[in-house]
Amino acid sequence: MISEDLDRVYLDRTRQLAEKNALPEVFQTLFSGGMQVIDGSFDPSLLGKKVGYLRKRLSTDAWADQGTLTLDLDKAFPGAHGMFTAEYDSEIDENLVQCLKSAYPNVEAEALPAMIRQEFKDYRRIKSVLLKSERHTFDFREHVPADWSLHAYTRGDARLIETAFANPQFHFIVSPQPIDSRLGLHQLLHEVGHVVRYKEQTPEEIARESDMRGKDKMTVSEKKDLVRSERDANAFALSHLWHFFGPEDMDIFRQLSYTALLGYQRK
Ligand SMILES: [Zn+2]
Repeated sequence: MISEDLDRVYLDRTRQLAEKNALPEVFQTLFSGGMQVIDGSFDPSLLGKKVGYLRKRLSTDAWADQGTLTLDLDKAFPGAHGMFTAEYDSEIDENLVQCLKSAYPNVEAEALPAMIRQEFKDYRRIKSVLLKSERHTFDFREHVPADWSLHAYTRGDARLIETAFANPQFHFIVSPQPIDSRLGLHQLLHEVGHVVRYKEQTPEEIARESDMRGKDKMTVSEKKDLVRSERDANAFALSHLWHFFGPEDMDIFRQLSYTALLGYQRK
């Protein structure tokens, strides 16, 4: 009982923090796919501006089938510094194929590859991501083992409600946001934070967390564990991003972190 009380205290404090620091409600609705109710006191053009800011990309051109992209962060993000490098191709990784096979057992084996290619035609398999400045290096592959894959959407029209996820059973990350936007980079680093933790967990602990995430109603202790896992992933992302981004961007990254946390709190 005492530990349940402590869990409740933790959840209450975290929820208050999240409520205070999350993006304004109109954005929360946007991210959760709800209906927009904008009253007269709100300037709708602000919404478009902020969304444009989050989606702004380093690369304005379409990504080739394969290649290496190296870009200056401050080209698109004023106040940022360092270089962004991503190495990619158009292969569909076997990890993802295996997961989809088990998710769609009724789809015939011969039909599956074409279905997957169609579904992921605007995605690329990202083999490496490097953020590098004179102060700090974030190397995706330093944290994410070689047997994990990453697939990322590469067009500018991604839907805001689609967010990145890491699958610890089949070892892959999918980013429905382009990873060269502020939104995409923040989500990617958050997911890498999850992977870092998965590496330290036993298969039983990982299975427990996956089950928990699928539940409609969690116990207090499960909810605390989930919120803590999300906070750890946020802390990982922010601890790397601040080396490359200016104060305005960091404010937004923090708000994005708390906005997502608030979503988990409400589960
Ligand atoms: Zn998360």
